[in-house]
Amino acid sequence: MALIKAEKLRKEYSSGEDKVIALAEASFNVEAGEFLGIIGPSGSGKSTLLSILGGLNPPTSGKLEIDGIDVYSLDQEQLADFRSEYVGFVFQQFQLLPYLTALENVMLPLAISGRPKGEQRDMAALVLEKVGLGNKLNRLPNQLSGGEQERVAIARAIVNQPPIIFADEPTGALDSKTGQEIMELFQALNREGQTIIMVTHNLETLKYMHRALLIRDGLVEKVIKHESLGYCAQ
Ligand code: ADP
Ligand code: ADP
Repeated sequence: MALIKAEKLRKEYSSGEDKVIALAEASFNVEAGEFLGIIGPSGSGKSTLLSILGGLNPPTSGKLEIDGIDVYSLDQEQLADFRSEYVGFVFQQFQLLPYLTALENVMLPLAISGRPKGEQRDMAALVLEKVGLGNKLNRLPNQLSGGEQERVAIARAIVNQPPIIFADEPTGALDSKTGQEIMELFQALNREGQTIIMVTHNLETLKYMHRALLIRDGLVEKVIKHESLGYCAQ
């Protein structure tokens, strides 16, 4: 059974008198373990689609099923629980808290878990080690490079071991070499079984993915398979 089932997802925003159709209709499935890209011109509906899939933005109509759960039939509290159990987000601007260390930033999603602080600390240290920052646990974000801040953001997204990671332009603010290193990290996570859905403008990043949805004018215009993306087996 597919991990994610998107059925006729549609999103309209009203701005004043006007109605904007951000997403006209999107239907597709995502399998567990997939690395899926979402590409398309600016304003085509990519961020809207990502936020709907991540349980952050209710669609105007349509249905989203994740692991058999009808996500938008949940009430606010259930939806918050659903997000903390199922999804991790990585944003382009990292969104780290500037006054907290790398370790403390990664501990944030664990705060509501009720686990003892020491255990939270150990879990956060372990994932920071995994993303290559084992020796920089106590740095503040402004004492880290852009690529390192991105690694902290990735560690924070995976620390709860959510089945799905959503990333919105995670290489957008990085130089190409650093961006490539970050994509290799995502790829390594994917090879361990992590499902990843990533919005990207950078066509270079597509070779790390199994499939990409090309979104245009709020519609899934095309599904591009890995053969055509130059998927790198190594
Ligand atoms: P990007 O093209 O990099 O994805 P967007 O232009 O989609 O960035 O905008 C980023 C954020 O601004 C999103 O959260 C989106 O919902 C919001 N946004 C985009 N366009 C509008 C708009 N016309 N009115 C209000 N919010 C908007
Ligand atoms: P993309 O991520 O592909 O740039 P978005 O999903 O951000 O596209 O936006 C799709 C369309 O919806 C754009 O026309 C954008 O201006 C509009 N839009 C996005 N978010 C909002 C919002 N919160 N309010 C009004 N319009 C929005």
